[in-house]
Amino acid sequence: MTLQITLQIIYLIASVTFILGLKFLGNPSTARKGNLIAAFGMGIAIFGTIFLYTDAEGNHLKNLPLIFGGLAVGTVVGWLAAKKVQMTAMPEMVSLFNGMGGACAMLISIIEFQHIQSTFVEPTALAALSGRLLIILLGMIIGSISFSGSMIAYGKLSGKVKDKSFGMQQFINIGLLLIILGFAYMAIMGGQNQALWFYLVLALSLLYGVLFVMPIGGADMPVVISLLNSFTGVAAAFGGFLYDNKVMLVGGILVGSAGTLLTIVMCKAMNRSLLNVLIGNFGGGGGAAAASSSAGFEGSIKEVNASDAAILMKYAKKVIIVPGYGLAVAQAQHVVHELETLLESEGVEVKYAIHPVAGRMPGHMNVLLAESNVSYDKLVEMEEVNPEFATTDVVLVVGANDVVNPAAKTDPSSPIYGMPILDVEAAAHVIVNKRSMKAGYAGIENELFYKPKTSMLFGDAKKALNQLVSEIKALG
Ligand code: NDP
Repeated sequence: MTLQITLQIIYLIASVTFILGLKFLGNPSTARKGNLIAAFGMGIAIFGTIFLYTDAEGNHLKNLPLIFGGLAVGTVVGWLAAKKVQMTAMPEMVSLFNGMGGACAMLISIIEFQHIQSTFVEPTALAALSGRLLIILLGMIIGSISFSGSMIAYGKLSGKVKDKSFGMQQFINIGLLLIILGFAYMAIMGGQNQALWFYLVLALSLLYGVLFVMPIGGADMPVVISLLNSFTGVAAAFGGFLYDNKVMLVGGILVGSAGTLLTIVMCKAMNRSLLNVLIGNFGGGGGAAAASSSAGFEGSIKEVNASDAAILMKYAKKVIIVPGYGLAVAQAQHVVHELETLLESEGVEVKYAIHPVAGRMPGHMNVLLAESNVSYDKLVEMEEVNPEFATTDVVLVVGANDVVNPAAKTDPSSPIYGMPILDVEAAAHVIVNKRSMKAGYAGIENELFYKPKTSMLFGDAKKALNQLVSEIKALG
């Protein structure tokens, strides 16, 4: 009995660490601590369960070698993957790990179904059994959708799977969902074919996950991953119900609600509804498509070299740096920080303008700049920084494209129309650093590059910024 009380106390502590962890994750300066606190909570919950859990007959968990074998393999694979992953490939990894959570929920349901099938049930206990089956099926449906959907999202983000939609896709998906629910009902009703219905539900749920994610545009993948993440949380919460395990329930609910909130926040940042994300096919084609023409923009491209750009920046009062995906590709976060400190030592006020979807994952720019110890108070969010551009002498756009594309405001036919952007055009000068005239993720041209105020500083971001730093130093 005391073992069980100790275990419940451990679960309580673990639940508190999850909540604290989430709270700390809300700010880049405390995010690392938050992650460690929640991981500690998860650790004590896992080991508490392994060593202290007893069933109604007082039996401890069996199969310890298998459990520890699984833990060891998972730890080694997870550790190596997290150590090796490039910053630009982070969203893929999040998607893959999320898929594993969905797969766990799916496997739990399969195993518990097999337990039910192999146990004799008194007729009087049939109603309770139906309730249990309902939880098993819901956990399995949501877990499998999350698993197969996350795998497709992973494939899309890594460029291995292309967007694919076909006519009536949305109707087919709704029809499939209704069939899954119908088969689930048949499985709960029992009878000779119960296992058949159950495994049909499993197969169709996996198929649904694929069909659900397949037509969604590449640039919308982070929103979808966040949604799938919330699915995994809900599936885990069903596991908590199943085992009457409080910490699994709390953890699942927290992941489910955090994922849902993040989904809503990201949709808001792009000024789009969730429905539009799910059926809109924005950014289809996986991005990075080369723009083929200047789309009839007025004006022409004006190039600037590092030495002229250095003069402009050194003698400016205020410079705002707009980081984008290219900064991550070039790994130019350290040199951008060097440029910032150098300019500040010359008396220039420097800030960074952070667009909520810059880069390839939520918070990408914050994480990247934190890596090079840029002070957090220099990172200014879009709503706050937009009014500041009018009083800015030079904006330096580093590897950003879509997040400064005026088509989002002016061209209703553009796939990014309606997405709030950074109003860099309001500044006196705009210097854009990128390697070529190629498009960004949404695959579209950018009129900003043709504007009279804009000068292009072509080249890899790391190299170009290094040159800028040397030129500013050379100016004395
Ligand atoms: P974009 O993808 O629009 O543009 C990045 C630009 O960086 C490219 O045009 C590229 O041009 C340039 N670039 C690439 N490598 C380098 C390099 N080594 N040096 C210098 N420049 C380089 O990025 P943004 O950050 O502006 O916008 C993000 C886009 O990604 C949005 O459309 C967003 O919706 C989408 N998205 C966002 C996610 C998120 O959660 N943040 C996740 C997935 C997609 P060039 O090749 O000519 O150098």
